[in-house]
Amino acid sequence: MNIILLGPPGAGKGTQAELLIAKYNIPHISTGDMFRAAIKEGTSLGVEAKGYMDQGQLVPDEVVIGIVKERLQKEDTQKGFLLDGFPRTVSQAEALEKILAEMERKITVTINIEVDSDILLRRLTGRRVCRNCAAVYHIETKKSKIEGVCDHCGGEVYQRTDDTPETVSNRLDVYKKQTEPLIDYYAKKGLLATFKGDAGIQVLFANICETIESKQ
Ligand code: AMP
Repeated sequence: MNIILLGPPGAGKGTQAELLIAKYNIPHISTGDMFRAAIKEGTSLGVEAKGYMDQGQLVPDEVVIGIVKERLQKEDTQKGFLLDGFPRTVSQAEALEKILAEMERKITVTINIEVDSDILLRRLTGRRVCRNCAAVYHIETKKSKIEGVCDHCGGEVYQRTDDTPETVSNRLDVYKKQTEPLIDYYAKKGLLATFKGDAGIQVLFANICETIESKQ
């Protein structure tokens, strides 16, 4: 079960990822989470990534491809994996295909979540995230029980520095130009399943699960 989650920032990839990894017991490989962890640890990767992230730009392909390759080679991906936020460019998608071919593996399905851009803006600027376990909240629609404290792990719930209105607008532009072409890329390979992201979290999750199970 080798799944890719595709869709603009704020489409609900992180929320669906949390549900999917719990149900199918596969690792969640989020390049954004990996960069945020590197920033928190103060590694050289974190320092490099932060400059791009704070502007809403993509981290260079060769950097991202390197960390994903390393991550996919870990033992826990044997049963499958859920890629979230990778690939984000056609060259990342081509590199992924090469990495998987070397491992004699293939993508099962690419789940594409579609959401209108006015909804994305509202979702992203109101989004809050747990600094520890990356659980996702929203100041209007999904508050944590205690403000600023994660319901799952008690970690600090904060606003990502790239969820400010200006950076969000850059991220949406970058998505349109650099990531949206992947929809066609995976459609042509017969690996795309598209879902409306405004259906409600549980309805969307049920639809996604049905598709995943039909591919097995
Ligand atoms: P995300 O949490 O997926 O929204 O990612 C946050 C930020 O991390 C993005 O705006 C990029 O700056 C960077 N990033 C995450 N994944 C990638 C990727 N696959 N390629 C390039 N940059 C990425």
